[in-house]
This record gives sequence, structure tokens and C-alpha cells, in this order.
Amino acid sequence: MIDSHCHIDISAFESRRTPLLARARAAGVEGFIVPGVDRMGWRGIMELARRERGVYAAPGLHPMYLDLHRGKHLDELKALVAGGEVVAIGEIGLDYHVEGLDRHRQQELFESQLRLAALARLPVLLHVRKAHDQVLATLRRQHFAHGGIVHAFTGSLQQAEQFFEMGFLISICGTITYDRAKRVRHIAASLPLEALAVETDAPDIPLAGRRGEDNLPEYLPEVVQTLAALRGESVAAIARATRDNVALVLGISSRPHAAAGPVLDWPFQQRRV
Ligand SMILES: [Zn+2]
Repeated sequence: MIDSHCHIDISAFESRRTPLLARARAAGVEGFIVPGVDRMGWRGIMELARRERGVYAAPGLHPMYLDLHRGKHLDELKALVAGGEVVAIGEIGLDYHVEGLDRHRQQELFESQLRLAALARLPVLLHVRKAHDQVLATLRRQHFAHGGIVHAFTGSLQQAEQFFEMGFLISICGTITYDRAKRVRHIAASLPLEALAVETDAPDIPLAGRRGEDNLPEYLPEVVQTLAALRGESVAAIARATRDNVALVLGISSRPHAAAGPVLDWPFQQRRV
């Protein structure tokens, strides 16, 4: 399995990261996509990706932390991306859920990072809350063609289908383990398997029965099991398909254990230009 979105770089995990990764791998999680939040965190993410097998870096500027971002951070992101060790730019997008976040500034930041991703021919990890139509419109306006993953999807089925048509995976998180999460459970059951990814968003979005605990990549199998049950498909099929979908969209090896570095050949390697 690949956890398509987990913040295992955070300082709260510092002293327990090695056993955390070991337990996740023992549970069958072989890939970890680690998105950025702000400029301060990028170095840690890059170091983690260099050091740990199956860990991939997706630095970017998160829309919720506008006050931490500076114009020069975009230049630094551009330089970082040029180093070729980045699989995506993330997490970027629009958040209309949190009150008091300047929507105009969010839009500018989002568009700048989309342009940067297009220039580098990289996919993006999207953070979208109550702004799915606005994000779709922005992607269309920019003719963004490198796809990516919509993390912890909360939109409608129609919006999910539009994202998928534009080359994006819909990432399903622990929310589906709650019976009351009817809409997202319905979306997870309805989309084609080729459209899906899975994630924990560790340390956030605790699973049903695990509230009050840190969420961890080792719990990803519970998301996969719930997804399999909702779809009437086997756990193995869901695990394999979501892993391969993420590997394809991000241009990484779907079997991090088998080889060091990316092994997928053309056309995926072209992204790394
Ligand atoms: Zn996140």
C-alpha cells in the first residue's frame, strides 16, 4: 500500500519515527507521500525522503498557513523542485472552510504554485475545502495537465468525476470508517477503482474507534478494509490498485522495496526534466 498523504515529518514524531515507519511497513504500507505545509518544513521532508526507503517528498505552501508564507518562498520552492528529488508540489489549494483566510491571497498562492508545477511538469497534491468548483475552474483556466491527488476528498460525486477526468486521483481517508459519513462512503463506493488513492493524513483524521489518538500510517489497512467492504471488492485488489494508481500519477516505483529510486520508464521519467 501507499499512504498518499501523511505528515510523518512533524516534530511530534521525531523521537518515534523509526518504530513508526517499521510498524507501518510491517502492516504492509510500503510508500509514504509526505506533503509540505510551509517553508520551514521542507528541509525535514527532503532529508526524510533521502534517508528512508519509500518516502517521497511533495513540498509546497499550504493555503491554511498564509501568514507564514513569503514571496521569496516561491523562488525557493522553484529551486528545490529543480533539484529533481520532488514527486509533487503539495499541499496546495483553496480552503473556504476556515474563516478569516483571505481568499484572494489563497488564489494567488495556489495559481503561482500551479504555474511552478506546470513548469517542472510535476503533479500536485490538492487541499480543497468548500472550494471544489473554484479549484476545478482554476485548473481549467491554467490548462493544468500534470494531474495529481485530491487529498481527503470532501466534495460531491460529480466534482470527484471532474477531478478524475482532469487526471486527479480521489484520495480516501479514515472518514469512511464512520457510518455517518454517508456522502464520502457513497463516493468511495461509486468511483472507478482507477480513480482512487488512500491516505491516513497522519497525525490528523483519526479513524472510528481511535478518536483522541494520533492517526498513524500503520492504520492505513483499516481504511483499505473499509473501502473493500463498501465496494464489495477484495482487500488485496484495493491495496494493489490504489498503490499502482498513486505510483502512476506521481511517476514513482510502485514497489519501493524492489528497487532504489524510480523504476518506471518513459513516459513517467519525463516528469523529472
Ligand atoms: Zn495534509
